[in-house]
Amino acid sequence: MTDTRFWHPFADMNAVRSTELVMARGEGVYVWDEAGTRYLDATSSLWCVNVGHGRPEIAEAAAAQMRTLASYSGFGAFANRPALELCERLADLAPVDDARIFLGSGGGDAIDTAAKIARRHFAVVGQPDRVHLIGRTQGYHGTHGLGTSIGGIVANHQGMGPLDPHTTHVAHDSLADMEAEVDRLGADHVAAIFLEPVIGAGGVHQPVPGYLQGVAALCERTGIFLVADCVIAGFGRLGEWFGPARFGIRPDMITFAKGVTSGYLPLGGVVAGTRVTGPFWDEPGTVFRHGPTYAGHPTCCAAAMANMDIIERDGLLARGLELETEIASALGTLVSHPLAGDIRAGIGALGAVAFDPDALAAHPDLPVRVFAHARDHGVLVRPLGDAVAISPPLIISREEVDGAAATIGDAFDAVAADLGVTAGV
Ligand code: PLP
Repeated sequence: MTDTRFWHPFADMNAVRSTELVMARGEGVYVWDEAGTRYLDATSSLWCVNVGHGRPEIAEAAAAQMRTLASYSGFGAFANRPALELCERLADLAPVDDARIFLGSGGGDAIDTAAKIARRHFAVVGQPDRVHLIGRTQGYHGTHGLGTSIGGIVANHQGMGPLDPHTTHVAHDSLADMEAEVDRLGADHVAAIFLEPVIGAGGVHQPVPGYLQGVAALCERTGIFLVADCVIAGFGRLGEWFGPARFGIRPDMITFAKGVTSGYLPLGGVVAGTRVTGPFWDEPGTVFRHGPTYAGHPTCCAAAMANMDIIERDGLLARGLELETEIASALGTLVSHPLAGDIRAGIGALGAVAFDPDALAAHPDLPVRVFAHARDHGVLVRPLGDAVAISPPLIISREEVDGAAATIGDAFDAVAADLGVTAGV
């Protein structure tokens, strides 16, 4: 039996140890495995390769920076030019007042940073009881300590020991539930509300109309910080640099990662507005004792600048916006399939086809079966909870979106035939 020493994330190693799919190369919307088989990367790896694979400009920018100053700390007074330039650029683009940027290594990092910034802020301004963090069902905020607790995908909590006791979750689609939770806790005990503008890993759930604006108004009224987790919803994925701009809201903090480098190098961070940063900037001695070794990593920041140049030059924000209609209409062709439930698409270049709840209850492995069939036919989709999802590179063509949807449709047909499922289940 073949085996591996690579412990894969989110994997059943007992199954994976002998079935690894070893990827070797990427170009545009395609990746190739070591055997030379080509796949359409309909997920952009993990929602991140927004500019597509194999962009030489990013490789060259990273190599040039590595030859100059590959790595240096940003602790204390240290800075470097790529980090400073990236922060200026992000601050100009973010829908956040007088933004300052805390840089880290990825999305989970950014979430735990934002949570600690919120708590530390309130400790500093004399409101030490404001420690509670509210998340939402199906929310995903990474796998660090606080992010695990704030996230609302139940399976991710199981067997992980106690969650942070000052975190709770409310239904992701109910403003009334969010307001009731704030009333129950008392706003003066709540530091921050975390939300994804469009829920990604929890199954692709669009915000109900008015929800995001309603939570923003609640935060404005109560002084609770609104943290928009844009780890997916940035850099063109929702047709904007930062997703909240789509909804006319200005969060106190925005977390970002993934698309900032299109996944070419690990980078993430928190955009923080003036309401948050005031005491840290204006009061002497207010140290935020937090930050990873690679905060402001010059090579990662240089890669981000090159990636953002491509997004700008190639008009990928506009393309992201077009794709939301193309993806919704392509996946919409599956709506009457006997195995299909909701089609969740329409905002952003991402979408999911959920399975019919009865069919899924009878066959919980439907998402994995469809994933496997699509993969065997050259399209990589993502099995996610009760659905399969796509979030392609923003350079994908209309024909390729339709082709991916057709392959997903064929996979639904093949799985239905294997299971002997017909209309009505
Ligand atoms: N937040 C959201 C919305 C995400 O989708 C993810 C990852 O998928 C994260 C946070 C965690 O990011 P990372 O995997 O870079 O730690």
